[in-house]
Amino acid sequence: TKQIVFAARPKGTPTMENFRFENIELPELQECEVLLQGLYYSVDPYMRSKMNDAKSYTPPFRLNQPMEGGVVATVIESRSAKFKTGDLVLGRLPWREQIITSEKNIQKIDTVIAPASYYLGILGMTGLTAYVGLVHIGKPKAGETVVVSGAAGAVGVAVGQIAKILGCRVIGIAGSDEKIKLLKEKFGFDEAINYKTTPDMKSAIAAACPNDVDIYFDNVGGEISDAVIYNINFHARIPLCGQIALYNSTEVPMGPRLQTILLTRSVLMQGFIVSDYQSIFPEGIQHLAQWVKEGKLKFMETIIKGFDQLPNALLGLFKGENTGKMIVEA
Ligand code: NDP
Repeated sequence: TKQIVFAARPKGTPTMENFRFENIELPELQECEVLLQGLYYSVDPYMRSKMNDAKSYTPPFRLNQPMEGGVVATVIESRSAKFKTGDLVLGRLPWREQIITSEKNIQKIDTVIAPASYYLGILGMTGLTAYVGLVHIGKPKAGETVVVSGAAGAVGVAVGQIAKILGCRVIGIAGSDEKIKLLKEKFGFDEAINYKTTPDMKSAIAAACPNDVDIYFDNVGGEISDAVIYNINFHARIPLCGQIALYNSTEVPMGPRLQTILLTRSVLMQGFIVSDYQSIFPEGIQHLAQWVKEGKLKFMETIIKGFDQLPNALLGLFKGENTGKMIVEA
């Protein structure tokens, strides 16, 4: 079967040189193992951090080993009592077209509730990140103003809609006019700002948020976050979810020292890693599934066809090529 291995650690922005395609023979299936055919592969910004050999919440990718991530697959052969041929499963699995894995690494998914790919997005890590960060860290109250950066991405569209469900005023920041239109017309954001065409983001956010910003859900960091923090309200909360604007930086840029604003306005900024909040997952999934079913929480995917496109799709996240969740369909 074909696999994609991590070939070299990138300096700055990754390129195709950091990946290698290989063909391998799969071994015999052992007791309690299944053979899977990969259907949907998730690409996520956190994968960039795993390309660095650095201390983090998750160990780095190992050189010359397959890349891995969230995968939805079909069981095509089983030596496990828990899974039968035809079952659809989800797991953190290697980037291989066919995969042998232990029954311990996978769970069945229910496609009556939602399409299979949603388990990589709104009913998976993405949706839970939005839920945990906004609801449990942001603690929104009806009437408050919520700003979300990376708003047209997988986490961002969910954050904005959940904030609307909870009665907040929502402003999104994203990188194209098409995304801005979608945020306002399809996802119900009150305002949306294109950071690529707006020269003065600080004033644009001030204009969009006459009562200042009570919650800033930060997916991107960098100058966009500086502009929001200038407009932050007293006792605001900042769930620090991602810093994609900085993931490819070779040095940390020195910005204005905004901690003074955070201090003098009693702002709480809290980083969080969704996997540390497992105890909230059942509650989160229940709410997310319910909102999806009721049509209150719309989801969008950018699906790229072809297993070979996985590296391209991952690199595309850093160029804003996705709206909603970026997924590769084998
Ligand atoms: P997205 O679907 O949002 O994809 C990435 C998007 O980021 C792109 O579409 C692009 O949109 C935007 N972007 C890329 N480069 C830049 C840049 N330099 N400046 C500003 N925006 C940029 O990914 P996810 O929704 O999966 O993830 C969103 C964030 O949440 C990421 O930072 C990720 O690391 C983080 N995350 C954190 C988790 C946690 O546990 N804390 C869990 C999951 C995700 P545009 O066109 O608008 O530029």
